[in-house]
Amino acid sequence: MKHGKILLGLIGFPLSHSWSADFYNEKFRLDGDTHKEYRLFPLISIDEFPGLLAKYPELCGLNVTIPYKEKIIPFLDDLDDTARSIGAVNTVTIDRTNGMIHTKGFNTDAPGFLQTIRNLAITGPALILGTGGAAKAVAFILKNINIPFHFVSRKTKGENMISYDDLTSEIILDHPFIINATPAGMYPDTAGAPPIPYQVLTTDHLLYDLIYNPEVTEFMKRGMARKARVMNGKQMLLNQAELSRQILLGKV
Ligand code: NAP
Repeated sequence: MKHGKILLGLIGFPLSHSWSADFYNEKFRLDGDTHKEYRLFPLISIDEFPGLLAKYPELCGLNVTIPYKEKIIPFLDDLDDTARSIGAVNTVTIDRTNGMIHTKGFNTDAPGFLQTIRNLAITGPALILGTGGAAKAVAFILKNINIPFHFVSRKTKGENMISYDDLTSEIILDHPFIINATPAGMYPDTAGAPPIPYQVLTTDHLLYDLIYNPEVTEFMKRGMARKARVMNGKQMLLNQAELSRQILLGKV
């Protein structure tokens, strides 16, 4: 590594509310790793990615967030199997051996999510709200552990997809596990919630919001009002970040 310095970072846009730099830099500080640094790189367009790699020769790994988790893929040399199956990447290693740049994409959202549901008593099929990168990571895991699911989308077309308008009481009752994989309700628009018929929810339901800011979302509050079990995305966030850190620092 040039000058022995290791630079990691996060690309996405906007990044003003990202906590990743604090997560990494605090760990580096505790470990006494003064030659390691994590920086935020807000990119207005993903086309700036190759230029970023050229500008920072010490940059050897990146996390990727909204809106580039899918758009980054054509820029990468390789993908691991999970990232390839999901079609979304949140971690990129940058190998610069012999002056050649080789990039590889990983997805740690999926295993991060899996770790959080291992000990949950899930009693039936799931509804995944949203069809973006996070929704695909959740679907990948549910498929692997044989939990049947449908996506719920604002679009009406698509395989295995229900529109919000078509969500009947019966469908809600048949799906005790409901996962919010949309940004509806995320800071700063905390009054929002995905438009599902909350009045039908029962104590058998588990509402899992992938959002972690705020800690208690409007989606969760509406579930709590019906005495459903609820959880937020905080633990998944910590899990995916730790898995990602291990990949970027070559510990796995
Ligand atoms: P994304 O790619 O932007 O996709 C979100 C999906 O939600 C879209 O494809 C869209 O699906 C739907 N959607 C977008 N705006 C909406 C709105 N206003 N109302 C209802 N549906 C809407 O985002 P993402 O990367 O998948 O992330 C989704 C959420 O998960 C974000 O809040 C993110 O912070 C969270 N997340 C958390 C973790 C964690 O570790 N806890 C990890 C990843 C993501 P349709 O067009 O089909 O409706």
